[in-house]
Amino acid sequence: MFLIMSMISNILQQRERKPKEKIVVYTVLSCINNDYEERREFIPGDYVGKIVKDKRCPKDNSELRIKAIYAEKQQIER
Ligand SMILES: [Zn+2]
Repeated sequence: MFLIMSMISNILQQRERKPKEKIVVYTVLSCINNDYEERREFIPGDYVGKIVKDKRCPKDNSELRIKAIYAEKQQIER
């Protein structure tokens, strides 16, 4: 009897287990002419207003400026 009870409680615990989450920080890059926007994962050193050196606007080849930085919860897939 005790064995069955403990099996049931194990099953209930597994159901209640929350999915694993991680926090991902994104950086939003925006063309200085406001015709293009993209996001990528945050790189240390990023700050709002910074001009990125490693990328250019694919539309008019202008500089890209960091418009926003934000974090998002993501479920870890297995
Ligand atoms: Zn542009």
